[in-house]
Amino acid sequence: MPKNAGSFLWSNSFSAVLIILFVNNNTLSAQISKADDKPWYETARVFYDWIRIGEDLDRDYARHLVQKTRDLNCNTLAFCVSVYGYALWDSEVSPKYDRIGKMDLIGELAALCKKNDLYFVPWWLGTSMGAGRVLEEHPGWIVHGPPVNGQPGREFNYICYNTPYRDLIYEEVREVLTNYDVDGIYFDQLPGSCYCPSCQEKFKNLYGRSMPVVEDEFVLAFNHGIPASRYPSSLNEFRERSIKGFCAGIRKIIEESQPGTAYVQNWIKNHHARLGVGLVDVVLPEFYQRDDLVALGMKHRITKSYFENGAIWGNVRHSVKHDARHFPVKGTQMLLMDCVANHSAPLMLDLCVMDFDATGKEQLGQTFADIEKFYDLNDGGKEVYYATLLHSLPTYMQDPVEYMKDFEGIYRLLFEAHIPFNLITEKGIQEGDLEKTRVLIVPSAAYLSEKAAEAIKSAVNQGMGLVATHMTGYKEPNGSIREKPILSDVFGYELLDIQTPFTTATLFRHPDLKVSDIDRGYFYYASTRPDHTITAEMSEDAYFSFWGNFAAIKPVADATVIGDIHLPDHARLSAGEYNRRGVFPGPAHWPLAIVRQYGKGKTAYFVPQADEIERRVYAPEYTSMLERTILWAGGPSILETPEIPPPVEIRIFHNLSKKLYTILMINHNTSPLVRGKHEGIGVIRYIVPHKNIEFTFSPGIIPADIRDFDGNSVPFKIMDNKVHINLPELDLYEGIIIKY
Ligand SMILES: [Zn+2]
Repeated sequence: MPKNAGSFLWSNSFSAVLIILFVNNNTLSAQISKADDKPWYETARVFYDWIRIGEDLDRDYARHLVQKTRDLNCNTLAFCVSVYGYALWDSEVSPKYDRIGKMDLIGELAALCKKNDLYFVPWWLGTSMGAGRVLEEHPGWIVHGPPVNGQPGREFNYICYNTPYRDLIYEEVREVLTNYDVDGIYFDQLPGSCYCPSCQEKFKNLYGRSMPVVEDEFVLAFNHGIPASRYPSSLNEFRERSIKGFCAGIRKIIEESQPGTAYVQNWIKNHHARLGVGLVDVVLPEFYQRDDLVALGMKHRITKSYFENGAIWGNVRHSVKHDARHFPVKGTQMLLMDCVANHSAPLMLDLCVMDFDATGKEQLGQTFADIEKFYDLNDGGKEVYYATLLHSLPTYMQDPVEYMKDFEGIYRLLFEAHIPFNLITEKGIQEGDLEKTRVLIVPSAAYLSEKAAEAIKSAVNQGMGLVATHMTGYKEPNGSIREKPILSDVFGYELLDIQTPFTTATLFRHPDLKVSDIDRGYFYYASTRPDHTITAEMSEDAYFSFWGNFAAIKPVADATVIGDIHLPDHARLSAGEYNRRGVFPGPAHWPLAIVRQYGKGKTAYFVPQADEIERRVYAPEYTSMLERTILWAGGPSILETPEIPPPVEIRIFHNLSKKLYTILMINHNTSPLVRGKHEGIGVIRYIVPHKNIEFTFSPGIIPADIRDFDGNSVPFKIMDNKVHINLPELDLYEGIIIKY
């Protein structure tokens, strides 16, 4: 890599550049973290381990654990407090584990961590594996699924926290916090409630009647895969109450025994993270890689939004399942940095792997050193964003599965287009968090609340761009259909009908047509109109297809149609005899998308459900149209990346006091992941490096120096008021540090 290759090209209009760039700067610094003095756990680098089983262990083992943590450049050791229900400390509450002799392992680790400047976080595990001894003594405490035909439901491999087990955990926590100086405590899993006898009894005491049963649910702590609207509200309330009750109990013990100890909790993730607000300090959602990696950052960000910007620890598995073998090292390195790019402190789940196979120790240590460097550079800094993506909780509660497909489709669009963006909840909108965004994107938020809509409307009036799709605003949060969609007066349309495949308006049955022969993957044809700046550069008269429903609308006079949906050509509709089925394009008939000026803001409404995650793959033209519309509604972005491949994640951070930007690039070019032998967890076999990545960055500064994480100079020049940067190579990830 060339050393000191950075250069300045002084443009003729240098002073003009300065003025223009600095004006932009004020509007683009975004507020992510509300408090600048971050507690330690916001930027922890966590090594997560448990006991090496089947051996007699002595003080050398404790020293070895601390050394492993230091070797990896982590600053926090998270270690289990017990094994199978046997304590690893000198306990009066629970019997002691018999393979550590007279050693008090938790006491030993607490002292060693202090001596080595490490944070120490003992953790509890609520499965029967974590506390099997307890379950042997009290088999009735196991988590139960819904009763079927009056018979007790299926048993799950957890102990219910609504049983007397909760009191036992509380006593253990109190004992550990009273006797040892620890920095945090962590609870792996949170089986807060179920259908066990204890839960049924508690429910009856609270509500004066038997617990209602949702027979087809796969239950643990929360309702799974079934819309909240299908649950009796008392059951929802009971479950949330059980979760909060457990967390409040732990909080109380911390305040009484060792105030200031960080309380870390998992299982309250996604929108459930809101249950931990005010009770829990850190949420640790366990999101593993499946067939794609984009969704990991998305889930971390959703969780953070509902945790009201509280601290998140990102869980990166290095061990395969609970085996003493590991995933390929490069994947672990990349995912650790991906956590950081998505506002989550990295945690590496080792589970003794390195005791048996220390492959990659240096590389992993380097990644944690890079992360430490980033945290130092970004100390007091904030993420810079341009667009904001709404996650609508009322919509999610009514239809979690379909809504998340719509949401993730647009999340991916922004990710792949490298449009800097953050997430917002309806609560965040109502609290005024829209202030700094250029454009809000609302993917099919059918049940958008009135309060959120009002706040959106007033932000648009004052100049914020707004882009929404499909069913946005169609229903009340309680499910009833609105007289007219709630933001339709902003976008400027009247809703005529929701067109679904085979509605009569789309397709009449002609006696000569064998309509039943049409393939079930029914689609519509659409095209763009060339007479608007958004669509002018898109190819004229070209059709593209999309799959799914759309809203048939009538635009108001001052709304502009920028694309059309076409009637099917009935003459050719079915040609089954020629093995040719499906739809052929006829004349333009419905608006595909409309744009309009509303107050000082630009708005756009797209009628189809075409950017939903599975549908969008058919219509890259539609994706491109949406992308152009977002940039039209929000104005030019600070980042232009025509040469950077879509699977590279880019996140920008600004540290005003240190006068520097850090651009994190995470290389997700691994797809498809291969599903390993273990269901649900994909394996990153390789990551494809990219060379000579060129992009422009125009945040309102003149760089003095641009370097990568290793300190190498990164070449750049200034042209057309933009900083043109050429990154020689992107392997797993890179931090581009721009000082000005
Ligand atoms: Zn229970």
